[in-house]
Amino acid sequence: MIQPVAAFDRIGEENAFAVLARATDLANQGRDILNLGIGQPDFKTPAHIVEAAIKALRDGHHGYTPANGLLATREAVCRRTLTMTGIEVSPDSVMIMPGGKPTMYAAIRMLGEPGVDILYPDPGFPIYRSMIEHVGARPVPVPMREENGFAFSAEETLALITPETRLLILNSPANPTGGVTPKSEIDKLVAGLADHPQVAILSDEIYDVMTYDGEHHTSLLTYPEIRDRLIVLNGWSKTWAMTGWRMGWSIWPDSLIGYARKLAVNCWSCVNAPSQFAGIAAIDGPQDAVTDMLEAFDRRRRLVTELLNALPGVSCVLPKGAFYAFPNIKNTGWMAKPLASALLEQAGVALIGGPDFGVLGEGYIRVSCANSDQNIEAAIARMGEFLENAK
Ligand code: PLP
Repeated sequence: MIQPVAAFDRIGEENAFAVLARATDLANQGRDILNLGIGQPDFKTPAHIVEAAIKALRDGHHGYTPANGLLATREAVCRRTLTMTGIEVSPDSVMIMPGGKPTMYAAIRMLGEPGVDILYPDPGFPIYRSMIEHVGARPVPVPMREENGFAFSAEETLALITPETRLLILNSPANPTGGVTPKSEIDKLVAGLADHPQVAILSDEIYDVMTYDGEHHTSLLTYPEIRDRLIVLNGWSKTWAMTGWRMGWSIWPDSLIGYARKLAVNCWSCVNAPSQFAGIAAIDGPQDAVTDMLEAFDRRRRLVTELLNALPGVSCVLPKGAFYAFPNIKNTGWMAKPLASALLEQAGVALIGGPDFGVLGEGYIRVSCANSDQNIEAAIARMGEFLENAK
């Protein structure tokens, strides 16, 4: 039997996709499944964005675009970056990628190899660790602690840096915890990084608009002192409900952007043209749909937290960002993955066990707020009944 090289023994998964597949199977068998597992907005892409893609197709935009993306799309990204962060970036520093994930791959592939340490948040988005292991680098988890609001601690992060560290991955607002790292902590972290000039930073800012209660996202772009070693990952998937369009962008230092472009030439040539026109409409068009979505996520994160805190053995901090809650289930007597699996199979509620986001995810589950208030209420009521009956 033909086998791939060893690097493919070290490539992981995103279990949310497996849970989605199982939930869909069960639903197709006639089971009533409530899905709080999914990491994508439960909204449709706003109509004016869809229209822009249709128009692009009708206007004949059917061919390759430049590998780094259409200039007009990159310029739209620059406008959006200026609005969000106050920082001017050149379209020459921007790459349009098929989603946020390819930026992760590109950055980790460019900076990781055996003998290199890469720091990443744990619990955190599972693809970071998967890619780090795939390229043969050593994954070094940076703990995201409940008692610290699931934020990065500058002190703890800096203490993990060694002469072998080549990349630090940051994510705020965070998946799966909803944690938002305060500006004061990022200030300290960036100040400390001055002592470690060999460390590049990949800042995953894909949830940048999704902060609540007056919390603010702090973009790493606002620190000029690290600009020459900073890669910023962002994209359309979450903000404009465009996960299936495969549209992401990243901002690169001058020393790396050429390699990102070459990787695109080698792997995917370019993102499909109509999506890139849709991306311009998303940035430049009306933002009411985004505001409505954020209002819904804000309301639902409070609903989810309140309902979860009423369940036996469950405690949940109010998430400050993104659209996930990460309740602590240590006092239910269940381990997280068996609980997630039993809830799906027996109670018809899909959610994700914390260990799918890292070793420090044990004792937690991820609950997505990307479902209707009614479904959230019904799903958490089912969880309550299940936990009561399983006592
Ligand atoms: N970064 C984080 C933290 C995410 O949660 C996700 C998607 O869930 C991504 C990146 C990937 O986004 P995309 O679907 O655009 O590849």
